[in-house]
Amino acid sequence: MSERGTLIVYSGPSGVGKGTLLQPYLSRHPEACLSVSVTTRAPRPGEVDGVHYWFITEERFAQLVDSDGLLEHACYSAHSYGTPRAQVEEQLAQGRDVILEIEVQGAMQIKRSFPDAVFVFILPPSLEELRRRLSGRGTEPPQVVEDRLAAALRELGFAKEYDYLIVNDDLERAGSRLEAVIAASKCRTANLLDYVERMVNCHEHA
Ligand code: ADP
Ligand code: 5GP
Repeated sequence: MSERGTLIVYSGPSGVGKGTLLQPYLSRHPEACLSVSVTTRAPRPGEVDGVHYWFITEERFAQLVDSDGLLEHACYSAHSYGTPRAQVEEQLAQGRDVILEIEVQGAMQIKRSFPDAVFVFILPPSLEELRRRLSGRGTEPPQVVEDRLAAALRELGFAKEYDYLIVNDDLERAGSRLEAVIAASKCRTANLLDYVERMVNCHEHA
């Protein structure tokens, strides 16, 4: 079987429910982990450095970019975000699945550098519902909610670049679909050809 872990790129507009959907998946799948990104934005109440993000300065971010320490990086709502390279590569090599919860520009960079990654995009049932969820979460002031809705429209234009689209209407149904698409991605032919070849070689040399 494939010994390397699967890289899963997980995107969707802010407030669509990515975090809410992912938590149960991670609890059920100890073989999967969420990459902790670096960001220059300030922590929200309750966010912990090293758990939700590594909160770093613009200078440190620029150093990481210059030293090729990030797998991808992008600017979102006037702040920088990026995926630290070393930890992701280490986890994949150890056979763990790594989930990158990142926005679309970063996802397109990963698509070029890791064409075998699995790309999953979470859709809202409607833009009205997305606004309700963003405002209901109470973590952003109204102007930021409006900025994020405008960003959502731009992001929806990239949905066609992803392998799987999941509408997060009913939480349970969307959670089952997330399970299903990740499970399906494990059975992709390209992932299992080595396994078939080893089986045939073993038989021929027996
Ligand atoms: P994201 O991680 O995509 O920014 P969150 O997981 O923080 O989004 O969810 C935003 C808000 O929407 C939260 O208040 C969450 O409880 C709510 N939410 C998520 N999924 C659903 C759903 N299927 N139905 C109703 N509310 C949801
Ligand atoms: P938030 O500020 O709401 O936590 O995140 C804003 C957006 O940045 C979300 O779409 C989130 O998925 C994305 N994001 C978080 N970490 C990264 C990262 O490392 N790289 C990129 N490209 N986007 C990220």
